[in-house]
Amino acid sequence: MPRFTASALVVGDRAGTVVRDAVLDVVDGSIHWVGPAAEAPEAPDAERVELPGWLLPGLVNAHSHAPMALFRGQGEGLPLERWLREVMWPREARLTPDDVEVAMTAASAEMLRNGVTTSVEMYFHPDRIAAAVRSTGARAVVAAPLLPLPGMPPLEEQLAAAVDLAAGVAADGHVEYGIGPHAAYTVPLPVLGAAGRAAREHGLLLHLHVAETATEGADLLARHGASVPQLLAAHDVLGGRVLAAHCVHLDDGDLELWQEYDVAVAHCPASNAKLASGTAPLREMLDRGLRVGLGTDGPASNDALDLLADARLAAQLARLRAADATALSAGEAFWLASGGAAAALGRSDLGELAAGRRADLVHVDARDLAFEPVGDAGDVLSHLVWSGGARCVREVWVGGRQVVGGGVCTTVDAEALRLEVAARAARLAG
Ligand SMILES: [Zn+2]
Repeated sequence: MPRFTASALVVGDRAGTVVRDAVLDVVDGSIHWVGPAAEAPEAPDAERVELPGWLLPGLVNAHSHAPMALFRGQGEGLPLERWLREVMWPREARLTPDDVEVAMTAASAEMLRNGVTTSVEMYFHPDRIAAAVRSTGARAVVAAPLLPLPGMPPLEEQLAAAVDLAAGVAADGHVEYGIGPHAAYTVPLPVLGAAGRAAREHGLLLHLHVAETATEGADLLARHGASVPQLLAAHDVLGGRVLAAHCVHLDDGDLELWQEYDVAVAHCPASNAKLASGTAPLREMLDRGLRVGLGTDGPASNDALDLLADARLAAQLARLRAADATALSAGEAFWLASGGAAAALGRSDLGELAAGRRADLVHVDARDLAFEPVGDAGDVLSHLVWSGGARCVREVWVGGRQVVGGGVCTTVDAEALRLEVAARAARLAG
């Protein structure tokens, strides 16, 4: 049995619990015991892993299109509509399944290196995304996309294929499939309803974009006389495990509907800022008890896959929006990237360092000029959120298996991947 010791351990719960001089025991890929060293059970035969820094839960990225690493930085500065039409869609039209698998492998390795052990993915070729994640040793909830694009099968066939894919998967906790209808402005409402019913029937995550921009809601309101959440409720989309990305432009009535149906939110502050979509009502969502997790969104619209940096931005924007420095604490910001995000996915096996959860662990080297001084335990969370970031991650384990050592992902050849991503991106750019 591996026994990890660390000078401090961050649980990843809403209360912001930090344990000083901590011990964490792993049995069969799960956390068996966690707590202060002074109270740890005797374990003379344990294999000791003594960490000089801080131990964190593997971070959970609640919204991503990670294979878009192939398009990182492309179309910089263009407004959204031109960015899609002139840059993204022509490239995506040339995309092959191999492109997706290579890009996902690279992005998965990048996320692991950044301390992100689980991501929710919505992109083409979900089976190849799953294969990539298995090769790096990470975890993903892969929402099979439903999108009416030229060259893709009819939406009803896409939905049936998504349900079939989910049925054929072993529940080993590394890959879970969900259903990912893109959004209410791209997928017809009856299809969204069918997707919602299928997700509920099979216990799958239903993941879609909601109210990302002001215009998308205004268009639907003009056409149907109802907001996006009202339309989704009226068309039987809600209920079960629904995870709505962005939710920037929601009013009080919409948030009430989210409460009524227990809709979870993937909050994407970096992408919303880069694309000037707006600031989501994060504090209001949390005060209503909504489940919220942080998402990077795709690397074409963030562009980093650095969830700790996004936790800082979430706190900054929440405070600016409320003109109140108490609007979001460092502890809450970290929780949104860990335990809060796991709850948003409906995955109580992830996101926190607690007995019974999977042993997804991140070691941060605390011997860093940016991490002093540490007085009380709260300083650990404060430093992680306000002066931390991906650069401080040294080691990562997923299910007790080490996948990052010395700040490098050890399950892939990162340099070979980098060159392959560059070559494929150049071909796709045409
Ligand atoms: Zn998205």
